Amino acid sequence: MTRLVMKFGGTSMADLERIRRAARIVAAEAAMGKKVAVVVSAMAGKTNELVAWTDGAGAAASGLPMSDDEYDVVVGSGEQVTAGLLAMTLRNMGLNARSWMGWQVPIVTDDAHGKARIEDIPPEKLGAAVDAGEIAVIPGFQGVTRDGKITTLGRGGSDTSAVAVAAALQASRCDIYTDVDGVYTTDPRIEAKARRLEKISYEEMLEMASLGAKVLQTRSVELAMAHKVPVRVLSSFAEPGAADNSGTLVCDEEEIVEKRIVSGVAYSRDEAKVTLLGLPDQTGVPATIFTKLADANVNVDMIVQSQARTADTTNMIFTVGRRDAARAVEIMKANQAEIGFEEVRADEDVAKISVVGVGMRSHAGVAQAMFKALADKGIKIQAISTSEIKISVLIDAAYTELAVRALHAAYGLEQV
Ligand code: ASP
Ligand code: MG
Repeated sequence: MTRLVMKFGGTSMADLERIRRAARIVAAEAAMGKKVAVVVSAMAGKTNELVAWTDGAGAAASGLPMSDDEYDVVVGSGEQVTAGLLAMTLRNMGLNARSWMGWQVPIVTDDAHGKARIEDIPPEKLGAAVDAGEIAVIPGFQGVTRDGKITTLGRGGSDTSAVAVAAALQASRCDIYTDVDGVYTTDPRIEAKARRLEKISYEEMLEMASLGAKVLQTRSVELAMAHKVPVRVLSSFAEPGAADNSGTLVCDEEEIVEKRIVSGVAYSRDEAKVTLLGLPDQTGVPATIFTKLADANVNVDMIVQSQARTADTTNMIFTVGRRDAARAVEIMKANQAEIGFEEVRADEDVAKISVVGVGMRSHAGVAQAMFKALADKGIKIQAISTSEIKISVLIDAAYTELAVRALHAAYGLEQV
């Protein structure tokens, strides 16, 4: 008996016509004898609308008090609508279907409202229903605390719901139907020669997702990796069973026979650069700086320290999320005397460009090729950070497209 979890994103649920198409795709799998659970997103744009009603500005305008738990009741409702509509549509096609709200499954989470984490999905009831031939339609994004309060998983969380349900049901795969037909070597809107990857490892996908590739929520990839759930990303716009819609399989590295050195180029404009000039060259200074930031919950990504022109002083560059840039500068200024720098500057016109590939572990020269390709285009590198399978550089945002294309070519990704 093969259990399958299918997930449809917001654009695949955008209206009744799209919902009917999704229903046909589900029906085709059921007709092949698969035991199916479906996880859905809210209609595209719906969650934004609901958030606008409940977040600070919207709530203040309407005189509503802000409350995190009621925020979840409101913003989690978009998925309830699409789950019901899809179940109805499946029934109209003569199939046995029903919706299961987050609290009915239940999808048990902690009580961090607005960004809850799934703790448990008891598989017995849901599994039995699905095995008996019922198509279970589950709203993504929703959960429930142990004491019965509605939660949501954070924006983009229905990917995580789908993978968690697949793990709980020990499904053979989790198919994520979306508006793109797979994971690409880079953003095809920037590089027309971008290629769809047939397979990508969990680790690479995790880096790509957290570095700005928006196909899957990062948390969902972590979960898939931890539970070894094969995830397939594919288009919901192709007709059911279309031969060319095989998508991209996110799987264990061992299952990828043709190893590449670099699998993809990602970019992100979500970071800002903060520069501290004229720091005293003393032990403990960096610790003070990053303690102040950590105490204010400001996440730091890249860090570079360099010797300044004058002896006994250094300069420091670090990056933070763009939303935190102003706050980071404020925190630095507030602690200027204690830290002892001469000047602080922030620059939001930066982009982080990353190359990702498990092959880096065993191949030399990957960084060299990156730096050379950028130098050949006259692009200056402002900061560098690396992990075992990725290299990121910070550059002037104006060169984002140029850099992405140059790196795509440098690693021969058009031939993948
Ligand atoms: N509807 C939710 C959102 O937009 C969850 C999701 O679609 O993944 O964030
Ligand atoms: Mg999404």
